[in-house]
Amino acid sequence: ATPTALMVGTGRGAQLGILIKGPEVLETTRKVDTVVLDKTGTVTTGRMTLVGVHTAGNTDEKEVLRLAGALEHASEHPVARAVAAGAAAEAGALPTPEDFAGIPGLGVQGVVEGHAVLVGREKLLTEWAMGLPEPLRRAKDDAEKAGRTAVVVAWDGEARAVLEVADAVKETSPEAVRRLRALGLTPILLTGDNRAVAESVAAEVGIDEVIAEVMPEDKVAVVKRLQEEGHSVAMVGDGVNDAAALARADLGLAMGTGSDAAIEAGDLTLVRGDLRAAADAIRLSRKTLGTIR
Ligand code: ADP
Ligand code: MG
Repeated sequence: ATPTALMVGTGRGAQLGILIKGPEVLETTRKVDTVVLDKTGTVTTGRMTLVGVHTAGNTDEKEVLRLAGALEHASEHPVARAVAAGAAAEAGALPTPEDFAGIPGLGVQGVVEGHAVLVGREKLLTEWAMGLPEPLRRAKDDAEKAGRTAVVVAWDGEARAVLEVADAVKETSPEAVRRLRALGLTPILLTGDNRAVAESVAAEVGIDEVIAEVMPEDKVAVVKRLQEEGHSVAMVGDGVNDAAALARADLGLAMGTGSDAAIEAGDLTLVRGDLRAAADAIRLSRKTLGTIR
């Protein structure tokens, strides 16, 4: 394409809410055949809410919310925000943790009012050699089958509760997936969340292929593997966790509503965080380069 065509394409992108880092980006976009979509905050709103608390034995629900909420208050993760907000609403003022550490892709751990507290994926409990009692296992499975993210709360060596957190698919996501398919692209949903949750979201937006329970540092390996299989890969994401995969992808599309790390790593930014703009971007580049009219 001529420099003028690329300039015009870049300008048209801005009108569509797509910020393109450089004119050469439009050239790579043309070859893309696979589009990897992050789940939380990309396909879904990422504005999660606490919708259920399930306790084991004689565990007090308010105590669960106080201890879990106190820890999650110190984390930026969408799940953490939902838990902290829900806990503050139900249990009032939250204590300040004596110790806190976030564990990317797993959860949080720390000390609250003298208790060693964990909040996060079951995998985090397993690492601490804790099991999940049967009633909590059932609550977790039911929540996940319903498409909700379930996190476990444990303290002093025992799993005590399951918290159910709900996220909603963005209204525009099903249409975005249809448009990406119409351009001949294969969509793949990629997430650190549970498989049942991921499959429920995928079904809602029309995606057949799901890669779930991926640790943050392994998202980039998924992109790499697809490339080694001969695919030209676009990645759409919003999280700090997505930055490496966005940089590695042939085309990295960052949600403008997402983290600075993602925006810096991407080749272009979808300013409004509307996934339909991903299809617009690919369509625009093909048009600019004269492959479609
Ligand atoms: P995603 O790919 O959906 O953005 P992450 O890799 O950030 O997910 O996290 C994967 C899973 O780890 C989450 O779905 C959640 O179950 C758990 N998790 C991560 N951080 C936290 C946290 N601060 N509190 C509770 N659970 C967490
Ligand atoms: Mg995300």
